[in-house]
Amino acid sequence: MNYIDVHCHINDEDYGGVDKLIANIQSAGIKKIISVGFDLPSSRYCKSLAEKYPCVYFTAGFHPTELKNFNDGDLDEIAGLCTHKKCVAMGEIGLDYHYPDTDKALQEKVFKAQLALAQKLNIPVQIHSRDSAEDMLCILREYAPKLKVMLHCYSHSTEIAQELEKLGVYFSFGGTSTYSGSKKARRTISALPIDRIMTETDSPYLPPKSKYGTFPNTPESIIEIARNIADIKGISEDTAVSTIWNTAHTFFGKLNN
Ligand SMILES: [Zn+2]
Repeated sequence: MNYIDVHCHINDEDYGGVDKLIANIQSAGIKKIISVGFDLPSSRYCKSLAEKYPCVYFTAGFHPTELKNFNDGDLDEIAGLCTHKKCVAMGEIGLDYHYPDTDKALQEKVFKAQLALAQKLNIPVQIHSRDSAEDMLCILREYAPKLKVMLHCYSHSTEIAQELEKLGVYFSFGGTSTYSGSKKARRTISALPIDRIMTETDSPYLPPKSKYGTFPNTPESIIEIARNIADIKGISEDTAVSTIWNTAHTFFGKLNN
């Protein structure tokens, strides 16, 4: 089977060498991974990984909690990275209201600037949205009709997901959807069409049920995550995995490079 991890963060420190990690995930059957940037240095680093390893693709963008050093001019470099033949999306971008010192106005400004830039560059976006469902829905009502949008590690309600689905949005699910207590994620996965769903690990974070409490998580966890999605949907693992593979390649056109 051809497994794909559409959202992970790969670096040497967490894995004691990326060479070893890539060899392991390839022998487990994970054929492609998307290493996701969250600021300028990480986006540049993800590009270098994509240039070194054929199975690695990348994204470039500013995460909402990584804006301390943000300057408007940084978006020029993000735009440059987005034109790379293995840069499949702008991301991860979005809103995160989890922490008490959140500067909502700054997050919204940078998020909207990146959405507008992605539209101009005609590149998909990978979105992070935490504790910000209402504002996210409001912003995506404006932008999603003209953009390819994927929400990573979807954590809002099923009702919000159905509103977003009408706007053409895609969703990826990771390790937290495998926990027995994750009723909301299970309900959302069963409510969404299988061809709007993708698989991710958010490695090194968010391990699935079988690795609960361990660090680092790795893209090999995709197998457990895909199996869980197949179970919830009542379809074979083969069907789930091949549908997700096709969805990812249609959504992220540069995965074919
Ligand atoms: Zn992430």
